[in-house]
Amino acid sequence: MKKRELGHSGIEVTPVGMGVLQVGRTQLDLSLIDGADIVGYAMDRGIGFFDTAEWYHTYAYIAEALRSRRSAAGFSMPVIASKSLSASYEAMASAVEGMRRELDMDTLDIFLLHEVREDPDFEGRAGAWACLNDMKAKGIVNAIGISTHYTDVAELNARLPESDILFPLINKDSLGIRTGKGLGTKEDMAAAIARNSVAGKGVFTMKAFGGGNLTGKYIECLDYVSALPCVDSVMVGLGNRREVDDLVAYADGTIDRLYTPDISHKKIRIDEGDCEGCGECARICPNKAIYMKGTGVASVDHGVCLTCGYCAPACPVRAILLY
Ligand code: SF4
Ligand code: SF4
Repeated sequence: MKKRELGHSGIEVTPVGMGVLQVGRTQLDLSLIDGADIVGYAMDRGIGFFDTAEWYHTYAYIAEALRSRRSAAGFSMPVIASKSLSASYEAMASAVEGMRRELDMDTLDIFLLHEVREDPDFEGRAGAWACLNDMKAKGIVNAIGISTHYTDVAELNARLPESDILFPLINKDSLGIRTGKGLGTKEDMAAAIARNSVAGKGVFTMKAFGGGNLTGKYIECLDYVSALPCVDSVMVGLGNRREVDDLVAYADGTIDRLYTPDISHKKIRIDEGDCEGCGECARICPNKAIYMKGTGVASVDHGVCLTCGYCAPACPVRAILLY
């Protein structure tokens, strides 16, 4: 797969990458062997860019996939991006150190401030950002930046001279895009991405399928993000070998343009880490399949849910997933 430079970072990535979240304990919860098999298979098929995070607890899958490949003749080490929800300097230092230890890497390719919500959130995490700057100055991390669902934060990133990377959420239906306290649009996010690109930042995107809710429109979704002129790579969550093959076929242009994946086995699920407990999904569900748990987050009764998909667009924070 032909690589391209991620902005002006000097880091070369493949045009599509594997999001490792899906194999981990917050989603498919695969065994170490099964999860590492998919990660390794993606490496073998030519995917050279992987996204993970401290919070995903998926480093072990990557480490296991690399264990047998690292020293193999002709193996090219993939670029691995990670991120942390940390706010303080110390917590971020520990997150960076944890990745170095678990993946046995002296120098990390990319480490980001994970899921920055709105401008004050960035200010509140100044300690963590200062730590990333220090890590970069010491040569421990090659490139730093921000991951976000928010257009205003993406705009902020374009103005940060020390940031190298933006990892924004964008998809053809604007699912999960936010602006301040409200809903954002793909047009606004695309404009913010363009400003980051002009400022020399590398851009790779997340949630092309809106958390799985748009997977049925596979080609349309990937065409939309791939055609954005300032996007260097598209990160896609992959949970089995078939999904790896589909993505590689899309990237090399051999996929059937009428391809529609079978999503009949997938279920609607709530990402409890993202759910803000607004209750909008429960109100909109025509089948009364969503209820609010005592903890204040939404939950799905799979015995009643018809996977009609009405709830997902109603969620302001993309906490409703289909996988
Ligand atoms: S997919 Fe449809 S039935 Fe299932 S929880 Fe959402 S709105 Fe309700
Ligand atoms: S709409 Fe989203 S944030 Fe609101 S309760 Fe449902 S899942 Fe949670």
